[in-house]
Amino acid sequence: MKYIIVGGVAGGATAAARIRRIDEQSKIIMLEKGKYISYANCGLPYYIGGTITSREKLFLQTPTSFGTRFNVDVRTENEVIQIFPAEKKILIRKADGAQYNESYDKLLLSPGATPVIPPIKGVKMEGIFLLRNVLDTDTLKDYLTTHTVKQAMVVGGGFIGLEMAENLHHTGAHVSLVEMENQVMPPIDFSMAAHVHEHLTQKGIALFLSETVTQFHRIEDKIEVWLKSGKKIMTDLVLISVGVRPEVAFLKDSGIQLGETGGIWVNDFLETSIKDIYAVGDAIEFPHPVTNKPWLNYLANPANRQGRLAADNMVKGNSEKYEGAIGTAIAKVFDLTVATTGLPGKKLKQLDIPYQSSVTHSQSHANYYPQSLPLTLKLTFAPQDGKLLGAQCVGYEGIDKRIDQIALLIKKGGTVYDLMKVEHAYAPPYSSAKDPIAIGGYVAGNILNGSMPVISWREMQQVNREESYLLDVRTADEYKLEAIAGSVNIPLDELRNRLAEIPTDRQIYVYCGIGLRGYMALKILVQRGFTKVKNLSGGYKTYSLAIAPVANQQKMMDPHEEKHHDGEQKKNLNLKIVKVDACGLQCPGPILKLKKSMEEIQEGDCIEISSTDPGFARDAQAWCNSTGNNLLSNTFDKGVFTILIEKGALKGCNLTTSCDSKGKTFIMFSDDLDKALATFVLANGAAATGQKTTIFFTFWGLNVIKKTEKPSVEKDIFGKMFSWMLPSHSLKLKLSKMNMLGIGSKMMRYIMKKKNIESLESLRKQAIEQRVELIACQMSMEVMGVKREELLEEVTVGGVATYMERADNANVNLFI
Ligand code: FAD
Repeated sequence: MKYIIVGGVAGGATAAARIRRIDEQSKIIMLEKGKYISYANCGLPYYIGGTITSREKLFLQTPTSFGTRFNVDVRTENEVIQIFPAEKKILIRKADGAQYNESYDKLLLSPGATPVIPPIKGVKMEGIFLLRNVLDTDTLKDYLTTHTVKQAMVVGGGFIGLEMAENLHHTGAHVSLVEMENQVMPPIDFSMAAHVHEHLTQKGIALFLSETVTQFHRIEDKIEVWLKSGKKIMTDLVLISVGVRPEVAFLKDSGIQLGETGGIWVNDFLETSIKDIYAVGDAIEFPHPVTNKPWLNYLANPANRQGRLAADNMVKGNSEKYEGAIGTAIAKVFDLTVATTGLPGKKLKQLDIPYQSSVTHSQSHANYYPQSLPLTLKLTFAPQDGKLLGAQCVGYEGIDKRIDQIALLIKKGGTVYDLMKVEHAYAPPYSSAKDPIAIGGYVAGNILNGSMPVISWREMQQVNREESYLLDVRTADEYKLEAIAGSVNIPLDELRNRLAEIPTDRQIYVYCGIGLRGYMALKILVQRGFTKVKNLSGGYKTYSLAIAPVANQQKMMDPHEEKHHDGEQKKNLNLKIVKVDACGLQCPGPILKLKKSMEEIQEGDCIEISSTDPGFARDAQAWCNSTGNNLLSNTFDKGVFTILIEKGALKGCNLTTSCDSKGKTFIMFSDDLDKALATFVLANGAAATGQKTTIFFTFWGLNVIKKTEKPSVEKDIFGKMFSWMLPSHSLKLKLSKMNMLGIGSKMMRYIMKKKNIESLESLRKQAIEQRVELIACQMSMEVMGVKREELLEEVTVGGVATYMERADNANVNLFI
């Protein structure tokens, strides 16, 4: 028997070795178009970044060692260029261009995938790279050693793009990442990707989401990258990582059938549409076990498994069926680990598959044992029987074991109830007696059986705040720090005594920090006769992270100078620094501990507090802004924030005193360009001084916060009329005076640009980045037929009560 294997890496090398193990007599030829076989593609980014120091370690076998060990005729730099199934022959081209034929009895195709090169002007210029194989790696590594690369850009925020962003950062470059979608890591849901966004920006990566590269230009020894938004970024190096597609060009005219996704169609035995030709790896499509729809799965584990199965079927006849892969993947993004298995909510929605989801925040191991780190788990499951459909997990430790357990359950057809039954090895350094996946199972079970109706962070943004009652059951301190606009604070422990304050005729949305106290509040309310109650899934932690604007270009400063100089100086001055360990505490634990510790020290002394809560850096900054203390430094290492704060002069001003009344509110009633500019200049100024700033957009003011590209929305006749008559977005706003049929506003924008004054759109963006709260008036939206989808994502919808609550806490309220 004569076997020919096309492709000598993951699937191909596995199959060749397996065939030899079960068939010692056969002839095996392995054809590889590159120079190398059996190497670790997955290790390539880490070699570039210097974590893997020796190039040799990337090679599991050389052609000679593989050939000797397995008695395989390994032919590198031999590319298969055509297949003639009728004659059982293939045409091969050697590196010198010479061609020859080879016959086979059985053929295995494992040609992998080829990177997509987007059709962008200048994409082929020097300094722009792809990463797929050893040759690409050597070329990129060589460039890094022979050029000064201070700035690097990664285009594409998938798994490989993110690994490369981290590894280029390790080479000492300032890295920016451009991604077309509004999130990185397409196989996970937005709220989970938000953890990655936060972490990347904390590490100094400049994130440009919902952006596309339109052109590359060479300017002296640099590359100028033009983005769709009009931004231009100078860089020394670009890595393109926008995806791959099956390598099937050489199959043209072979008669081998391709599937609807463009991958090679195979049957359950991994045999193609042509007898005796098998295919495995990145190049094939196979039905997804959950959806039963064909899909492409570019991962190493399935390629290896398929290689072994196909080998068995080629030698013994078709006997082993392939069960399919559900896309279990994991990536390290600096200190964070992100893993996924099965289907995320957005994919299920796209496929119109009914699902429910749960979000739980736990710790990697027992809270009381040092260095326990936060872990967030999202489950998707079928509403009728709780069958697990997918899971995503983000955190710093123990992510792999959780996702692997769930992957196994999904492949076995398990339900959320099975998660509760998983028996895990427990000791405090490794997990908790109630493991995060059991907690995920309990919460999902409660959602499923109706004992805890939930609302998602996305739905929460859409709720009509006038017709519903938003109940925040966190402590007063947590609420004062940050809360959902329009919510009322009744701490859980006071709830039973304050039930009379809660309306009985409205839908109640309860929320807390992570969802647990919200659940307890919901149980109290329901048993006390409130019928319409829902809990915010994942609590304020998920909500606030998901709606937080992603800071990007501000981070173009030196990412390797994360330590704040003031902090270093303070340490050197030998001032009194009290160390506080708040690791393992969930929000608001660290802030409360900080507040308490601060009360115990003198003005001018410092607290150095460490926390593993990912939102703590943001919270600590907000807390310092509102209390008059000085945040001196903020470092982040292996999931632990260490923040140095000097006790400020405003001693009496803390979470529970009058600092809140220093806020500023603006009512933006007009949609005149000049008035909008003035409003945002003032709001940005106020926010820059750390004051809580709110702009309430009402009536014509709504036009200032409309998206430029809006989705199509259903409107009644009056809504449609308003749409025709009103400016469709901010670029269409007119001046209040001297508009002269639009010439005035164009002139104004031109002069501002010439004089380097920020445009309205960039002032608005700055405001969002500074966390100025933008509230759209619910009533005005109703009257003018404006839909939520037409407004910027960062806008929340609120009513008069929301505004009044903000105005109460402000000492300047302007009507513009
Ligand atoms: P490959 O391993 O790509 O092998 C295909 C081989 O076929 C290539 O060497 C190619 O030169 C050769 N070939 C193609 N056409 C011909 C032809 N006509 N004639 C002869 N030879 C041909 N997966 C994970 O699960 N985890 C990870 O962390 C991970 N990291 C990755 C990092 C990088 C940088 C890359 C590039 C991939 C990564 N992957 C990862 C994906 C994983 O490597 C692939 O899914 C896996 O290698 C696919 O195996 P394969 O045999 O189908 O293709």
